[in-house]
Amino acid sequence: MKKNAVIIFSGGVDSTTLLYDSMRKGYEVECLTFMYGQKHGREVDSACRIADGVNVPLKVMDLSPLGEILSGSALTDANIDIPEVPETAEHYETLKTTIVPNRNAIFLSIAVGRAVSIGSDNVFFGAHNSDRGVYPDCREEFVESFQTSERLATANPGLNILAPFVFMEKADIVRLGAGLGVPFGETWSCYKGGSAHCGACSSCRERKRAFIGAGVPDPTGYER
Ligand SMILES: [Zn+2]
Repeated sequence: MKKNAVIIFSGGVDSTTLLYDSMRKGYEVECLTFMYGQKHGREVDSACRIADGVNVPLKVMDLSPLGEILSGSALTDANIDIPEVPETAEHYETLKTTIVPNRNAIFLSIAVGRAVSIGSDNVFFGAHNSDRGVYPDCREEFVESFQTSERLATANPGLNILAPFVFMEKADIVRLGAGLGVPFGETWSCYKGGSAHCGACSSCRERKRAFIGAGVPDPTGYER
């Protein structure tokens, strides 16, 4: 059987490293990038450029109206500011405003549908351990349980939802990506959609810290 896979691809550090890692492992991959009503489309531009750079097909799924029904998240709701606090345990309650309800289950469900359509048993997902505290749909137990559900939903016991970074910290991913030649300067992490990374939102802070932790030069031009 063909070794192919669908990747949930945001154009960020984690999913870009996952893309490069899966290609190195010999997978023929296809990227799915989601517009889910987020406040900016900057990450979609990055995703398209990166996929183009390695000649991997990418489909942009425009689910923008989701933003209207999944309100209450700082990432989709114009009335809620993007928090500018460190991504540490004492700020978890504030950081939870960046949760988009059930987002990864929605993305994975669509990715599984696509995988079945192209005759693939594999969906890759870039969840990692640094997200575990705030985002319940990035946890290993969710991935495992969702895989069980989707095996039943597709009547395919061989279906895999693969989250190879689920026990890794973001710094480990940066280290891995550096070894794979990931174009980090092309990736986008900022929750705001400015012309440069803001440097203050939790996602920018996590990105900065990961490069420092990995001992890898950070090519990102932060505003502050
Ligand atoms: Zn930012």
